[in-house]
Amino acid sequence: MKRIITLFLAVIFCTSISAQINYSVEYKDSLSSKVKITISLVKPVKGTVVFIMPRSVPGAYSMIRYDSFIEGITAISSTGKNITMEKDETGAPRWYGSDTTEVIAQIVYKVDLHKMEQRLDASDASIIRPGFAGILNYSIFGWIEGTENQPVQCTVHTFAQWPVFSTNQPTEQMPRGVLNFGAENYYTLADGQLFMGTSLRVKAFKGLVPLFIASYCQTGDEYLDDYGKQGLMSLETLHDYFGELPFKQYTILLRKALPLDSGIMPAFGMEHLQSSTFFGDTSGKRTEAMSAENVLKTIPTYLHHMGHAFLPLRCYGDAYRPYVKEIPPIIKNIWFNEGFMWFIPYETLKSAAWEKIFYANTYKTDPQIKKMGLQELSQEASLMYSADFRLGRAVFSRGASMAIEMNNYIKEKTGGKKSLKDVIRFMYYWSKENKRPFTMDEFSLLINKASGVDLTDIYNKWQLPIE
Ligand SMILES: [Zn+2]
Repeated sequence: MKRIITLFLAVIFCTSISAQINYSVEYKDSLSSKVKITISLVKPVKGTVVFIMPRSVPGAYSMIRYDSFIEGITAISSTGKNITMEKDETGAPRWYGSDTTEVIAQIVYKVDLHKMEQRLDASDASIIRPGFAGILNYSIFGWIEGTENQPVQCTVHTFAQWPVFSTNQPTEQMPRGVLNFGAENYYTLADGQLFMGTSLRVKAFKGLVPLFIASYCQTGDEYLDDYGKQGLMSLETLHDYFGELPFKQYTILLRKALPLDSGIMPAFGMEHLQSSTFFGDTSGKRTEAMSAENVLKTIPTYLHHMGHAFLPLRCYGDAYRPYVKEIPPIIKNIWFNEGFMWFIPYETLKSAAWEKIFYANTYKTDPQIKKMGLQELSQEASLMYSADFRLGRAVFSRGASMAIEMNNYIKEKTGGKKSLKDVIRFMYYWSKENKRPFTMDEFSLLINKASGVDLTDIYNKWQLPIE
């Protein structure tokens, strides 16, 4: 018996070692805005190695050319020889190392974060400031083709006095100088964010699951307790709405930075599987406790982005995927991802003001946008959701308006026994069970089944252009 156990453990050990991939990021030069990335293959490869950077991030609804910030990419053989990596000549975000005589053990490159910040929208870019680095992992980490599903070990190396925080493995007791953490695979690593530096603060709050607030504000520390309150209230609202929480802990990251060049940095949020990051300049800085009324008034954006951990990150349809991709998908139902997820704050907070916003964005927008049918509008927004926020606003507002109309109709037909909440819950558990995206055709059938009410006319009406 003992011998069998030993053998069994040995097999597991060997498999996990041979299938692992190691990532490291180094930022140790305060005069430079570049981070150095090393990807090490535990099992070196002979022949061609292909390195790919993502251009698509779930929820960004855009094409982000993270490949354009990669500098000096080189493969290194197991004997230490440098091998040139050639960029794909078609423009694809790929590099090839094809010295077939060598065994390739590592790929190294640098990413210039100032250049990234100057060229991208704030919510897509990683940043470096005195005493702080805020990194969206997908903006700096690519993958070696064929390794994307292997378990990842990641190491962060920075200044000895700098605490390091990772949403992949959050803790208030941050190590300084070096952080090691594991991730299920490349996609889970890419979904995470790293905050580090002496200007970073992390505060933990006890709730249904542990909640972490990680904060950087360039003009001085923010008052964090109301963020904590809003996060805990959102966890409770979502737990009540869906019947469970799909993560073991959650992190809200706050990044308030002065723009590198003059100007303003509009406030935006970006959702991830167990975290969300809120970007902006320092104009919205919180210095003291808010009134209970203001806590409620400013909660929707946190509730909405935390709710994205359910919809669409764990319940989605059509071409959306909850992980980074090389080629951005064109999605026909962003109105579900965004509109139905704006409906939840509207409904749970009984926010009449939001109904007016949805109405204005639907009916008072540009005539050329009103002329678009809903799926066409969603497809247009797939690459320009926030770049031309008229499209983003129109698509989420039409989706939310559809949701409100469906909710009222279900309540009316069932004498208040059912509502759109039953439909949204049903879709979430359907996705959990089926582990695949629903198709556009399935969606209209599933919502009828979930509600027991025929919603076809409302669904079809909202597919049309706005009169
Ligand atoms: Zn959203």
